[in-house]
Amino acid sequence: METATLKYPEVKNYVSGKFIPNGKKSMEVISPLTGKVISTVPLSSAQDLDEAVKAAKAAFPAWSAMPIKERVQIFYRYKTLMEKHLTELSNLVSVENGKTFDEAKAEVEKSIELTEFACSMPQLISGEILEVSRGVECRVEHKPLGVVASIAPFNFPHMVPHWTVPNALVLGNCMILKPSEQVPISSNRIAEMLKEAGLPDGVFNVVNGDREIVEAICDHPGIEAVSFVGSTKVAKIVYIRATSNLKRALALGGAKNHLIVLPDAHPDMTASNVTASMSGCAGQRCMAASAMVAVANVDPIIAKICEEAKKVIPGTNLGSVITKEAKERIERYITEAEKAGAKVLVDGRNWKVEGHEGGFYVGATVIDHVTPDMAIAKEEVFGPVLAIIRAKNLDEAIAIENSSNYGNAASVFTQSGSVARQVMDRASAGMIGVNIGVPVPREPFSFGGWNESKFGVCDITGKSSIEFWTQLKKTSVKWNAEAKTNWMS
Ligand code: NAD
Repeated sequence: METATLKYPEVKNYVSGKFIPNGKKSMEVISPLTGKVISTVPLSSAQDLDEAVKAAKAAFPAWSAMPIKERVQIFYRYKTLMEKHLTELSNLVSVENGKTFDEAKAEVEKSIELTEFACSMPQLISGEILEVSRGVECRVEHKPLGVVASIAPFNFPHMVPHWTVPNALVLGNCMILKPSEQVPISSNRIAEMLKEAGLPDGVFNVVNGDREIVEAICDHPGIEAVSFVGSTKVAKIVYIRATSNLKRALALGGAKNHLIVLPDAHPDMTASNVTASMSGCAGQRCMAASAMVAVANVDPIIAKICEEAKKVIPGTNLGSVITKEAKERIERYITEAEKAGAKVLVDGRNWKVEGHEGGFYVGATVIDHVTPDMAIAKEEVFGPVLAIIRAKNLDEAIAIENSSNYGNAASVFTQSGSVARQVMDRASAGMIGVNIGVPVPREPFSFGGWNESKFGVCDITGKSSIEFWTQLKKTSVKWNAEAKTNWMS
């Protein structure tokens, strides 16, 4: 591949403030919008990782000794840089991931919000102090862990790194980021912009690659903590491997989110929320509604959802899915459900977008009369597909939601406070929505699911992340030489 012909320069590892010349192994980066190669990404080795860990270790003493109020100044400047480059960053996210420009812009705006939250850390982590016995004070401080790692998925190339990078760094850690090899370009821009904001070399490093580098991260003795966001299959592997190497680990996995719709739900609001939830980002969100549980007769609402779904047009207000294989997998789920007796009300198979015939597009799809035993009802489809499961009453609907192995999000659409309260209490998911299709808790609230959607304690964002990225130091102090000494003082 002639690199001069590529839309973006080749992606490189970023270690100690420098982009490193690539080794022999690399792979192509393809834009799902067009199917065309836009860059290349190195597939790094354990030795490449080791160089990055050494750089991060070398940077740690000075970085962690810098007062947090000074560290956040860098992130205030970084936030301003993101605001300045919002259009450029959004275009990049759209091209490498396939989502629409508006969705990409919303993603980068979320990164800005996450950085803003990190800038509030000095206020959140100010410690505790108490005179515990006469003349003796005890105080508690949050101290960084050292070198930590963050492993990201393809679906939010800019935002998911911002779930971890600003908080972990502001709290005094040094980091290795391993982006998804499918969307690695944004992470190089993150590195450039952090440097421009004044981040000291070695505090933030990017090591690209695939499975080999993830395994090396889990095994490296110099890494204290590993955060992972991706599929449940890999989340389990990473959690088990990192913790068996005695590291702190937090691994977020896949999802199958249920929206429970009652006959008293507001029809227009419900239809537009459900459709936006299932089709936004082409259904490639871990918070996407992929199963709607229709309680009793909600046919008028289903008809409105179909009307809304038909207004979602690939290449216009609906982006592409990540790969040709993903498109084939999603269409296979639809076909198998149809064969098993489900009714396809809106069919998004076999879409072609004029001028982008090589892109990977699936249209918004609505399938009714899906039964809980079908694969499309149980497994993560990760495409713009809504599977409607019928339930006789609220108890049956909640039982369907509870039967899922996952537990990221669940929502209820109703005008009844008592019905909503029952779902809030009884749904087995970490994030609940009432009349909200994508119930992402915004800062300062934390993000994290239950069941097989998350392994490990703490959530990945918000106040809860402080516990993950720090350890407590408890100091007892006595200056009064006259005070009596006993084992309690
Ligand atoms: P993925 O699990 O395939 O990849 C995630 C990361 O793991 C990538 O960096 C990849 O290089 C690496 N990886 C892939 N296979 C591996 C293996 N066998 N061993 C070690 N590392 C491996 O996920 P994806 O396809 O990039 O992302 C989509 C998935 O992420 C969906 O399941 C989605 O629900 C999930 N996701 C979850 C959340 C959440 O908050 N729970 C958020 C975003 C995405």
